[in-house]
Amino acid sequence: MKKQNILFNLDDTLSFCNRYFNLVIDEFADQMMAWFDTITEENIKQKQLQLDVAAISKHGLKSDRFPESFVGTYKYYCDLTGREKKKDEIQYLRELGFKVFEIPVEPIPYMNETLQRLKEEGHELYLHTGGDEANQRRKITQLELTTYFEHRIFISEHKDTTALSDILKTIKADPIVTWMVGNSLRTDIVPALEMDVHAIYIPAEGEWQYNIVEVNVDHSSAFLTVDSLQEVPDVIDKHIQDQIMYVDR
Ligand SMILES: [Mg+2]
Repeated sequence: MKKQNILFNLDDTLSFCNRYFNLVIDEFADQMMAWFDTITEENIKQKQLQLDVAAISKHGLKSDRFPESFVGTYKYYCDLTGREKKKDEIQYLRELGFKVFEIPVEPIPYMNETLQRLKEEGHELYLHTGGDEANQRRKITQLELTTYFEHRIFISEHKDTTALSDILKTIKADPIVTWMVGNSLRTDIVPALEMDVHAIYIPAEGEWQYNIVEVNVDHSSAFLTVDSLQEVPDVIDKHIQDQIMYVDR
């Protein structure tokens, strides 16, 4: 079998992530509704999402962006309703936001089996994750991912086509035998197709709105969607077999 380079995303591809953010956002919204009786849960969540996403273009995927979106939402509604801003409430919200980074991560079902099989098949596995170094390293350690990725780990604060292009240059990857596997249309799939590497999209539960974009890219690489991580080795195998048949014809 022809050896492939397979880049995996981490959050919501190999380990759960959205569910922890959504839990903490629910707790935030409950607290806000207790303080502000005139605003709805939907309004609170919309404002938080808007501030969180707006900060990415300025600051990248740094961890403190998320707690600051709670504080920003609180201040916005204080101004709107004339409620006094209280230091202890701001502190409480900041700490609540940071709680998401303390929850131990759980692997997506079949994470180990899938990575182990691809490794045994002789493929070169890479991890490409967005976020800040400390938080992503914490998860990599908890999940013991160096077993599969060793030093082939890339952490980007701005996870976009430029970041992927830099990685491909560093690892000297031929796009014909290179794959990106991830849950984010915006930061995994579009950059992959723009670089003409093969993309496998695995939709995640409770997806963050930021990750969902329309895919409108000219590409000659494969673009596949699967329901679960477990299906990845088979679809890559099948693609390789199809290529061999095509060449032999
Ligand atoms: Mg992800």
